[in-house]
Amino acid sequence: MIAFRDTYRDIPLYSPAKKPCRVDLSDNTNLFGPPPSAERVLREEGLQRLSRYPAGYAPDLKRAVAAYAGVAVENVTTGCGSDDVIDCALRAFLEPGDAVAYPDPTFVMVPLFARLSALRPVPVPLKADHDLDVDGLLATGAKLLYVCTPNNPTGTVASRAALERLVDRAPGVVLIDQAYVEFAKGGDFMDLARTRPNVLVTRTMSKAFGLAGMRVGWAVGAPALVAEVEKARGPYKHTSLGEAVAIAALTEDVPWMEACVAEAVENRERLRGGLKALGLDPLPSEGNFLLVPVPEARRVGEAMRERNVNVRVFERLPGVGDALRIGCGPWPLMASALKALKEVL
Ligand code: PMP
Repeated sequence: MIAFRDTYRDIPLYSPAKKPCRVDLSDNTNLFGPPPSAERVLREEGLQRLSRYPAGYAPDLKRAVAAYAGVAVENVTTGCGSDDVIDCALRAFLEPGDAVAYPDPTFVMVPLFARLSALRPVPVPLKADHDLDVDGLLATGAKLLYVCTPNNPTGTVASRAALERLVDRAPGVVLIDQAYVEFAKGGDFMDLARTRPNVLVTRTMSKAFGLAGMRVGWAVGAPALVAEVEKARGPYKHTSLGEAVAIAALTEDVPWMEACVAEAVENRERLRGGLKALGLDPLPSEGNFLLVPVPEARRVGEAMRERNVNVRVFERLPGVGDALRIGCGPWPLMASALKALKEVL
């Protein structure tokens, strides 16, 4: 018998329900599709880059990110999705056995990444008003504190006062996951990444920028922090094509992205009205999705899937209970979700 790692014995694979559905609102991606520049890049550069490695540590992509974020190249690291940047940051700043603390509920991958690196995930319930329990997070003593704002799956945001207090008093790194910040009114914490020695802000090309299939994420922080994350990351985390498409989107397609965001946000609030008309009460959201408490969410989600609409089911979320998370985009998709939900409730 081969002896596998003890710490891996009970680790599951990440497997959200992904039955192919005509209307898939389950992963908070840009439902308007990929950015316009992607088609040109794939056509013009598609084949010629394939047989060689890309440059290690993605210098061209880092330059494009730095220009977009208004920071120096030394402040930027990138990875295979922001998943990878988060995973690398956990490995970079913590030793096996150390704690990672985070508000609960939050991005489901965080406790999983923690366990993959033999770290201890320590959830701290969000407060009833959905803000951070700063004292509870600090009391864990964790040397890495993860905060997602706007938060997945709740859609709610951390207040600046709470987050700044956390950053001021944290004994180590505060990783602020802003995968959905493009959809939020304010609540951009890039300034903390620029000015504080212990803040890493992660961002992604997968949501507002419509490039989830290309797997490109990035982070901004003090050069010393970023250098440690790069050590944990290894050189070739992007495909040449992913890098080229991401660079084009960041330099040419910001107005397109902003138009998609505006429409997604408008339709999110219209969807909220439709859900309220069904007697439901979604949480406040600054992301491109709504979390709506629904009893027996698993049954309801499965019945919606039978009607060709896939939404993300959550069961027994702390402070929320059973709920559905519905991604927002073009109105006809939202209308399909409302129709299916009405039929199955
Ligand atoms: N952070 C949050 C909060 C997310 O919801 C996701 C995607 N579900 C990610 C990070 C990772 O996205 P990606 O790896 O595609 O950048």
